[in-house]
Formats: sequence, C-alpha cells, structure tokens
Amino acid sequence: MKKPLTVNCPTCQTGVIWAATSEHRPFCSERCQKIDLGAWANESYSIAAVQQDEWELSDATQNKATAEMNNASETDTNTDLHLH
Ligand SMILES: [Zn+2]
Repeated sequence: MKKPLTVNCPTCQTGVIWAATSEHRPFCSERCQKIDLGAWANESYSIAAVQQDEWELSDATQNKATAEMNNASETDTNTDLHLH
C-alpha cells in the first residue's frame, strides 16, 4: 500500500493530504489559499517562487527514479536472451 503524500500548508503549516479530495492543496483551506495569494502581491513573492522550484526538482527526481527502474527490467530481459 502506498502511503498518502502529505504537504504542509504554506500559510499555517497544517498537514494536507495531497489528493484530489484536498481541493485547496497545498493549502489546508480556501482561507489559507487566499492569504497566500495576497502575500504574492507583496514582498513574499520571491520566497514563494523558490518553493515552487523545489517542487519541480522533487518531481524530476521521482521521474528519474522511475526511468531507472524501467531500464533495469529491460536489462534483465536482455540478459535472459543472451543466456538462451
Ligand atoms: Zn492552512
């Protein structure tokens, strides 16, 4: 079983389950989402941009791991062919 991924609400740091049911993710609620959007208009903009970059890096790392797993199974198949 896969553990549900949780993130901390950027506004109040409450844990939020990263799923379709959490429609305001990564915020815990519409209220926190609106507070953060208001912050973007102010000096917090650069901090929010850095956080988004970290998310993109995290996704890229996960994709790479998946690709390596796929490569590993292809290598196994090739080894079988050589043995037979
Ligand atoms: Zn919140």
